[in-house]
Amino acid sequence: MTSVARRSGPARHAGAEAYPGSRREQAPHAAPSRRPPSARPVPARPGNRPARVGARGALAVIIAGAVMVIVLWWHSTPGVHGLGGWLTGAGEVLGLLCGYGVVVLVALMSRLPPLERGLGTDKLARWHAMGGRYIVSLVVAHGLLIVWGYAATAHANVVSESATLLTQYPDVLMATVAGFLLLGIGIVSMRAARRRVRYETWYFLHLYTYLAIALAFSHQLADGAAFVSNLAARFWWSAMYLTVLVLVLWYRIAVPLLSYRRHRFEILGVKAEGPGVISVYIGGRRFEELDAEPGQFFRWRFLTRSLWWSSHPFSLSAAPGSDALRITVKNMGDHSQALARLRPGTRVFAEGPYGAFTPADSGRGVVLLAGGVGITPLRAIFATLPGHVTLIYRASSERDLVFRDELDAIAAARGATVHYLVGSRTEIGGDPLSPRVLRSLVPGLDEQEAYVCGPSGMTSAAVRALRAAGVPRQRIHFESFEF
Ligand SMILES: Cc1cc2nc3c(=O)[nH]c(=O)nc-3n(C[C@H](O)[C@H](O)[C@H](O)COP(=O)(O)OP(=O)(O)OC[C@H]3O[C@@H](n4cnc5c(N)ncnc54)[C@H](O)[C@@H]3O)c2cc1C
Repeated sequence: MTSVARRSGPARHAGAEAYPGSRREQAPHAAPSRRPPSARPVPARPGNRPARVGARGALAVIIAGAVMVIVLWWHSTPGVHGLGGWLTGAGEVLGLLCGYGVVVLVALMSRLPPLERGLGTDKLARWHAMGGRYIVSLVVAHGLLIVWGYAATAHANVVSESATLLTQYPDVLMATVAGFLLLGIGIVSMRAARRRVRYETWYFLHLYTYLAIALAFSHQLADGAAFVSNLAARFWWSAMYLTVLVLVLWYRIAVPLLSYRRHRFEILGVKAEGPGVISVYIGGRRFEELDAEPGQFFRWRFLTRSLWWSSHPFSLSAAPGSDALRITVKNMGDHSQALARLRPGTRVFAEGPYGAFTPADSGRGVVLLAGGVGITPLRAIFATLPGHVTLIYRASSERDLVFRDELDAIAAARGATVHYLVGSRTEIGGDPLSPRVLRSLVPGLDEQEAYVCGPSGMTSAAVRALRAAGVPRQRIHFESFEF
């Protein structure tokens, strides 16, 4: 194991501009470029940051909405009689909750800044995935209960009642198609199936959710007992759908287009950092208006013939400069591999900044734990976060360490510590991220804030080790590179 600790001079509390390591943010970028990137890091503008919605606030709003949906059903149901009535009533409540739930799922993915900043994209994606599983189950239960309830009331069998519902009730056929679409998307999104499907295939299949929502919408207003004779309910229900549609169109389409017009992102150059790892330098203008923070990421769409149709998330690997940004990419597949061939002048759409992996100065010491390409956001944070910072960087071989010179320069300039933990477990002779090792590398570890980014296995192991070393859960923050 190589464990190198570097410390030079007393630690200084400083912002991005206060020590040479951070001033050099753009300096090692002597990558081919048509114009040199600025060396000026962008000062933070905390006053202009959008509001953040925390997990509790978001959950409270979602639950309050669900309660209102149940109240709406209660209000529109004069009474429930017999088995058929109970089954139908339960089916109606679940149907309403489905109609509300899909709106919540889409809103979580609408890129609404207070949610993105407050919860972080990976938590939103986890909530979306978990909520999706519930909604698909509710859709199936809604369909079964309604058919069964109607059949019981009409003293018919469920097959003939299904045929009646499909052929004689307005928009039930479309809603059934929507239900099967959602079920199919749910199955493809299950972890086991997802691993076998290419990300792009899964993503484009996922877009059929919008079709399913559109198909089911008119069914809700045409058949839902809560809406048929309640104009106000129809109005507010439609307003809820319209609001989320506008949010999606605005934040996912209009904002990136406007952002391109304002900032004119384009490739300045590409630089090899190590085996299969490159840095891409992106130039433009008015970057101070981006309000990007170290630790955040953008979704990048590179406008070349083969790459324009998909956007991929990559974190900033250096503090944002006033007219240059840097991302660092490991070759993981077709897209990341193709980035090595980007040419200066290529135009780029950048959607962001996103992510809540943005440490604030808590007054505590900070330990940053990076694994592999997870170093990228931590590299930017390491250069800019005030206070005493220790960086632990785990890699399987010396060749896989990227930014070593930069990290040493930053550590020396700000009086911080870097530990490189290099080699396989067998070579090292044990677990390099065990609680004992972590405690020995970081004195007073249990008093510190911890930020972890790396492959999912390493991240979970590191989080467990930090907990075992006494760091409370709320002081452990991690970013996942998988949605
Ligand atoms: C918040 C975040 C920040 C990231 N930052 C970095 C970074 O700084 N450097 C870096 O090298 N990698 C980063 N990644 C990972 C990077 O986005 C993927 O490795 C890359 O998109 C792989 O695409 P591919 O076509 O080359 O590989 P593929 O073989 O197509 O995909 C490999 C895996 O990457 C994920 N992936 C693929 N496409 C996307 C997409 N459009 N959106 C989300 N995930 C996708 C999937 O989990 C997939 O299984 C980040 C990911 C996230 C979610």
